[in-house]
Amino acid sequence: MCGGCLVFRVACTHYCVTESAYRNHNNLMELINHTGLPLLQFSHFKNVAGLVHGVTTRKGGVSEGPFFSLNLGTQTGDDPQRVYCNRHKLLSHLSWNPSSVVIPKQVHGKNVVLITKERWDNDSAPHGLVLSGVDGLTTKETGILLMIKVADCFPVFLYDPAHVAISLIHAGWRGTANGIIAQGIGAMRKSFGTKPKTIKAGIGPGIGGCCYEVKEDVREAFSKQKSDNAVWKIDADKKIFLDLKKAIFLELIKCGLNKNNIEVASECTSCNPDLFFSHRREKGQTGRMAAVMGLV
Ligand SMILES: [Zn+2]
Repeated sequence: MCGGCLVFRVACTHYCVTESAYRNHNNLMELINHTGLPLLQFSHFKNVAGLVHGVTTRKGGVSEGPFFSLNLGTQTGDDPQRVYCNRHKLLSHLSWNPSSVVIPKQVHGKNVVLITKERWDNDSAPHGLVLSGVDGLTTKETGILLMIKVADCFPVFLYDPAHVAISLIHAGWRGTANGIIAQGIGAMRKSFGTKPKTIKAGIGPGIGGCCYEVKEDVREAFSKQKSDNAVWKIDADKKIFLDLKKAIFLELIKCGLNKNNIEVASECTSCNPDLFFSHRREKGQTGRMAAVMGLV
């Protein structure tokens, strides 16, 4: 498995606030002006024409305390105005219309939803389309940005170059054990005729096997999926550690992807407090990074 393919790119060190995007947040303009917004990007996606993607870090936002600074999750206890300001900042940085974004309310399930223009026209609001009970999104529409939030769980990016279609999946242990990876790939096969062998995938940063101690119930959940022994480590004190990133990688292989088409972030969110929020490390009192993917 490749461990170092993510390219850390400081894409903008001198951020300029646009008047229209921030007209409701004037009190915070000073805080966000001239702030860099680093994005993590996969090397095999970053030069694909018409494909926008990235994973934010905790740097470059306006939130404070445990949410410092680029918290993109509203259901965290953070001031919602700051979260919306952070979101506007990210979308402006990507030159994306602030209303053209889909943001699921994730539930660690395996529901992957197809986003079409019709669905968009019917259900979207000025701040985008919010979908409850959804952990994966797939589309081939242009101009709609898929966004999921993470802080230890893994964002999984799928790109079908043959049909120019994408999926973005929120993969924690529950979703992975319940088959959300297969569900996401199945949605692409059904909707676009995607062949798994041609999919290019990226597994973003999440909690590493170094830090992810779990209980027996997690191992039992995975045993139903006949998980590979390689994803488990038991230390001298009989503590169980799950390498969830490896479990996701193996799921992708099981679904028919070519291992050479999968890039994997090497960073552990729990081991890098300066760069990432970590739900486990901070005992739940923390922010969320965002993973984004869209076609233009
Ligand atoms: Zn770690």
